[in-house]
Amino acid sequence: MKSWGNNRAGQLGDGTPTAPTRRQAAAGTVGVDLGVKYLAVLSLPLITGNPDSAFVENPRHLRTAEKRLRKAQQALARTQKRSARRHRAGQRVGRLHHAVAERRATALHRVTKQLATGFATIAIEDLSVAGMTASARGTVEAPGRKVRQKAGLNRSILDAAPGEFRRQLAYKTLWYGSALAVLDRWYPSSKTCSNRGWQNPRLTLSDRMFHCDTCRLVIDRDLNAARNIAQHAVPPAPQLAPGTEESQNARRAPVRPDGHQAARHAAKKREDTGPPGPVPSQRSNPLASNPQHQEQAQPF
Ligand SMILES: [Zn+2]
Repeated sequence: MKSWGNNRAGQLGDGTPTAPTRRQAAAGTVGVDLGVKYLAVLSLPLITGNPDSAFVENPRHLRTAEKRLRKAQQALARTQKRSARRHRAGQRVGRLHHAVAERRATALHRVTKQLATGFATIAIEDLSVAGMTASARGTVEAPGRKVRQKAGLNRSILDAAPGEFRRQLAYKTLWYGSALAVLDRWYPSSKTCSNRGWQNPRLTLSDRMFHCDTCRLVIDRDLNAARNIAQHAVPPAPQLAPGTEESQNARRAPVRPDGHQAARHAAKKREDTGPPGPVPSQRSNPLASNPQHQEQAQPF
């Protein structure tokens, strides 16, 4: 199909791409750190040349709905048990809760499409929703319902986001010829220095910063986490319907022939412009390279 350009390495019979486009391959691997303050922080800008686009804001309609939900929850907490007022307040909380969940899903759809179409590999953290809920339960002194309700509603929305995010990415990467990579949930992505020769230009929010004692890197902590996710995530264990395994594995294999070529090309290019960096998928910045932190190249 001409409209896809001449860079589709292949397509299945129904037009589903089986490999990333040249543009996706050139963009490489993006790490995604899901958050509360920002919907997501990316290891690379969503828009090339615009560093701020690495910080994906929560959309206004979502923030508005969240504020309404918080107020409704406070109102509910002030009502008397088994009163008509409490019943109504509870219904309002339920409605707003649903609205927030829907709007968050909509916002996630927007960003997952941009990621799946814009990059060859999207790296995320393996956040177990069940695990987070369990730990929340564990920190509560009394295992009563009340405490859960208090701590629960807002939390449950945020807890649902990683699962929904991953679900969307899982099928959209298949649609758009990109791949998903997952970082083990025990990897300390927030505490590890991610210095790979690409520096964060946003150094003003001091309270949100990660400071490295070794290389003096100062970087937004979510951006640092996103970069670690990009560097250390691996293709997820296949959970496949029978018969699809071979093509899926081929697609998710860490090194594709075309990716390999792009990597060599990127490495060669970097040699021309400055010190060689170990990760071809990262954008190079010759000024920011630090030999102390060079590590083994990741397999994708
Ligand atoms: Zn460091």
